[in-house]
Amino acid sequence: MNVHNLMEDVVIKAVNTLYDRVKGENVPWLTCDCENCRLDTVSYVLNRIPPKYVVSGRGVTHNVEYLASSQLLADIDSMALEGMRTVSTTKRPFHNENRQDCEIHGSSAKAEPAFNFFTFMGVVLDGNTFEPVTNATITLKMDGKVAEMVDKTWSNPFHLVPSTKGVYSFWVKSLPAKESGERQYFHFSIEIKAEGYSESVYHFEVPIMSEECVRQTLDSTYTLKMKDLVIFKK
Ligand SMILES: [Zn+2]
Repeated sequence: MNVHNLMEDVVIKAVNTLYDRVKGENVPWLTCDCENCRLDTVSYVLNRIPPKYVVSGRGVTHNVEYLASSQLLADIDSMALEGMRTVSTTKRPFHNENRQDCEIHGSSAKAEPAFNFFTFMGVVLDGNTFEPVTNATITLKMDGKVAEMVDKTWSNPFHLVPSTKGVYSFWVKSLPAKESGERQYFHFSIEIKAEGYSESVYHFEVPIMSEECVRQTLDSTYTLKMKDLVIFKK
């Protein structure tokens, strides 16, 4: 007799579906999709959600999808994407080269000068409790217009989900530059809408130095941690 965490089945399925989908979109930052990377992503998610143990070997077939609420499934998808990005960004010892079971091989970067943006990452807090707000819609605008993301796996507006504890992230698509070494300020605003809260808008600007080509790899050193955004109940 064994105990088994039912969430494993749910998460493995979600991670595999996500990898297959993102692979189909040919996003440059996805460096590998081998079994190890998928398993690392599965662990990333399983370490962040409560387990649901059952005694296996009792001949009962569980409908795991039924056991997991639709909110939890949405959270798992969102964490799987986050985990996948983290796994793709982190260089691990067995990954000097693509593994044999990995079908993704290096993409060619276009050598056109570009302004490459940081990934913006931050958290939204309730102004009275300082607890993370877990249900809000966040829109990033550049010069008053909804900012375009690098690819379809990043969403703008971004919807916060409970399990990620108020954390949002954006990766704005690179803009063409005339040459590398050009310095320019970019104006952004972040709009937060949450039920029961007053709408809030934060403005900020970032100086960017253009580079020789469009940045295609996700790099954790290239993340801009935003100050905590605080919203208040109406
Ligand atoms: Zn891999």
